[in-house]
This record gives sequence, C-alpha cells and structure tokens, in this order.
Amino acid sequence: MTQELTGKEVADKIHEGLRARIAALAEAGVVPRLALVRMGERPDDLSYERTAIKRADALGIETVTCVLDGSAAQADIEGLIESINQDASLHACLLFRPLPSHIDEQAVCDALSPDKDIDAVSLLSLAGVFTDADSGFAPCTAAACREVLDFYGIALEGKKVAVVGRSLVVGKPLAMMLLRRNATVTLCHSRTADLPAVCQDADIVVCATGRAKAFGKAYFKAGQVVLDVGINFDEEGRLCGDVDFEAVAPLVAAITPVPRGIGAVTTSVLMAHAVAAAELAGKTG
Ligand code: NAP
Repeated sequence: MTQELTGKEVADKIHEGLRARIAALAEAGVVPRLALVRMGERPDDLSYERTAIKRADALGIETVTCVLDGSAAQADIEGLIESINQDASLHACLLFRPLPSHIDEQAVCDALSPDKDIDAVSLLSLAGVFTDADSGFAPCTAAACREVLDFYGIALEGKKVAVVGRSLVVGKPLAMMLLRRNATVTLCHSRTADLPAVCQDADIVVCATGRAKAFGKAYFKAGQVVLDVGINFDEEGRLCGDVDFEAVAPLVAAITPVPRGIGAVTTSVLMAHAVAAAELAGKTG
C-alpha cells in the first residue's frame, strides 16, 4: 500500500508545539508580529497572504499587511523594508515574490535584517544554510520538505536523494539541508542528462520544477519516497503537482499529494519561524 504523506498531520504537530511557545511569549508580554510585504495585487500573493493571515490569526500571531502600489519605486520598497528593520514591535517579515520587473529584487531582499528574514530571502540568510552556520532561518518550503520527511520517520542518513530543481527558493537550499543530514544528494536541473535514470536511482525524489504532471512512471521505481513541491494547474485548470500522481502513486512506497502536501506545511513553518524570531528578539532585545 502506498503511503500518502499528507501535510495536515505535520502542520498540526508544528502548531501544537507553537501554541505552548506563543503562550510562554504572552506571559512575557510579547505577541509575535509578522509583517507581510506586498507590491501590487498578484493573485498568487493575495492567496498566500490570505492563507498566512488565517493561519496566524488561529495561532495568535499578529500580522501587519504592508502594501505598495505595483509601480512603486526601488527607494519606496527599500524604505519600507528599512522601516520594518527599525520597528522593534515587528519580529518577522515575509516579502511576496516575485517583485515587479522594474525592481532589483535581490537588493530589496538583502536590505531585510537577517533576524526578521523568516523565509531566507537575503543572501546572508542563505549563506547560513549553505555553510551550516545555524545563523538565520532556512527558506520555508525547503524546511517544510525536511519537516515532512522527519514527521513520517523517513531516514536520510546514507540515502540517495535526487532533488530536481535548483532554485534558491527550494532546490538548492533543500539539497544543502539534506546533505547536512548525511544524505547523498544529486541536484538536478533542466540540463541534467537522462533525468529519469537519475531519479530512478534515488531512494528519495524531490520534484520542484513547476511543470504540471511532468514526472510520470518513467522517473520512478518501487520503494521510493516522492516529495512533490510543485504547485501548478493542469489543462482542466485543476491544482496539481509536478508528479503525475495517478500514475506514480501506485508504484512508489510513499508520496506527498498536491494539494494537501508540502504546501500545507510551508505556512506552518513560516509561523514557526515568526515565533522563533519573536523569541530571538526577546533574548537579544
Ligand atoms: P523555478 O525558480 O522556476 O525553478 C525551477 C527549477 O526547475 C529550475 O532549477 C529548472 O532548471 C528546473 N527545471 C525546469 N524544467 C526542467 C526540466 N525539464 N527538467 C529538470 N528540471 C527542470 O521554480 P521554484 O520557485 O523553485 O518552484 C518550483 C515549483 O515549486 C513551482 O511549481 C512552485 O509553484 C512550487 N513552489 C511550491 C511551494 C510550496 O509551498 N509547496 C513554495 C515555492 C514554490 P534550470 O535551473 O536548469 O532552469
């Protein structure tokens, strides 16, 4: 029987731990406060924002929505980030990306204080992930993948993992995080030769390419664990992952569904990072 690695149970466990920590902060007179920074009205950003606010409300984390017009200037968005850095009542910041094309996005990301950078958008935060320095936070989606593996007791030490996708948001940092856990990681991309063979050779396959149902049976074999990070829409406009779930699920040992998989955990990790940022501010402030 294939095991469905659903995200809800993982998220519930994260929330359980967070409630106790939020209560402890409340006793010290601190309510975690998260700034949500958006430029313009991209539907993806609005949807993520709604989910984040709902999840934060349910946990007792305050959110402050900071919105700039989509045509705002570089100086405006950098000024907003700087004001968040200076505001001691704001512990954490989530910046919705991509920013409009006239903006130097990396410069904006790098302007954010690492203490508040709960999604590791700045190069300084990413450097912590790449050097095992334990400084700053990891990108939430990559961290969500690790949470799912840990929750379901999937061992990493000595395992062969194929991570397909090398973005700084998911693939690259996840590869480093799994390497740190003593997995042997192959980081794949659009130029990888014979990708089906590379995937088939792995114990665990992570698909993070953004190509709807592109990974069919040819990429997998019996006994594998599959994490599907993709959030895409199929020809009928239905939400789907990178993996052709119907075809692949019966073949492998365990697989995350889309929706109800990694995405369901990412927002919880975001909340966990916001709480950690508030705890950190209490220690250093
Ligand atoms: P991205 O920046 O577009 O990166 C896509 C990666 O996939 C690139 O490294 C690209 O390779 C690789 N790729 C593209 N076509 C390929 C092919 N034919 N064979 C092998 N590799 C290929 O995307 P992203 O931001 O990492 O996001 C990936 C997916 O995850 C998207 O569906 C996104 O919506 C989803 N996502 C989900 C969550 C969540 O919470 N679940 C969060 C963030 C993103 P090259 O580098 O060679 O171009």
